[in-house]
Amino acid sequence: MNFKSLLGLAVAAGVVVATAQAGAQTGKPGGTPTRPAETPRTTVTLRFDAKSCTASDRAVLTEAFALAIDHVAVGLRHIRETPDSQHVRTWFGTAPRKQITFVLDAVARRLAQPQSFTVSCNDNLCRQGPMAYTVPSASRMGFCQGFFRARLTGEDSRTGTVVHEMSHLAARTQDHMYGRTRTRGLSAKQPDIAANNADNYEYFIETLNE
Ligand SMILES: [Zn+2]
Repeated sequence: MNFKSLLGLAVAAGVVVATAQAGAQTGKPGGTPTRPAETPRTTVTLRFDAKSCTASDRAVLTEAFALAIDHVAVGLRHIRETPDSQHVRTWFGTAPRKQITFVLDAVARRLAQPQSFTVSCNDNLCRQGPMAYTVPSASRMGFCQGFFRARLTGEDSRTGTVVHEMSHLAARTQDHMYGRTRTRGLSAKQPDIAANNADNYEYFIETLNE
């Protein structure tokens, strides 16, 4: 969800900073792993909406954002090193690799600046039933019940949802199509649109291990 119609919405509630250790350091020291891990290698300090996010919400979100940082790094390396892989063609068809790389790089950079946006939890914008939403003009992201019920990695997961929402915030991607089948069709038939569609980035990252 992008909720473009809500652009300009003000963040009414105060914000608070919470720190959490995202997880044990795993994997090879130094370089970027070639396959996404299940345990974050990164620590992230998110800026939570003080009123809406419980301690348990914060822990769940901190883990998902940390893992998103790791998985986007793997995805960026994938497209830079193997731009014509089957995986890239599946999710982006013949779209310009430069554009895909630009979006993934923007996502990685914004994830590395977690104090530059606010995260809310199960607030009133969740009533419309999205897993999550983003208000780019307010640098705000909200996460809803569906997000907290989703699994950590894989298709339609918490980690992938963070990537989806961050692509709206960092690179102003749109929601042209949702869902695996339709986004794959988009990559085949309208690759330029796939390269600007948030779900294509979500699935590209979520299915790196397949
Ligand atoms: Zn969206």
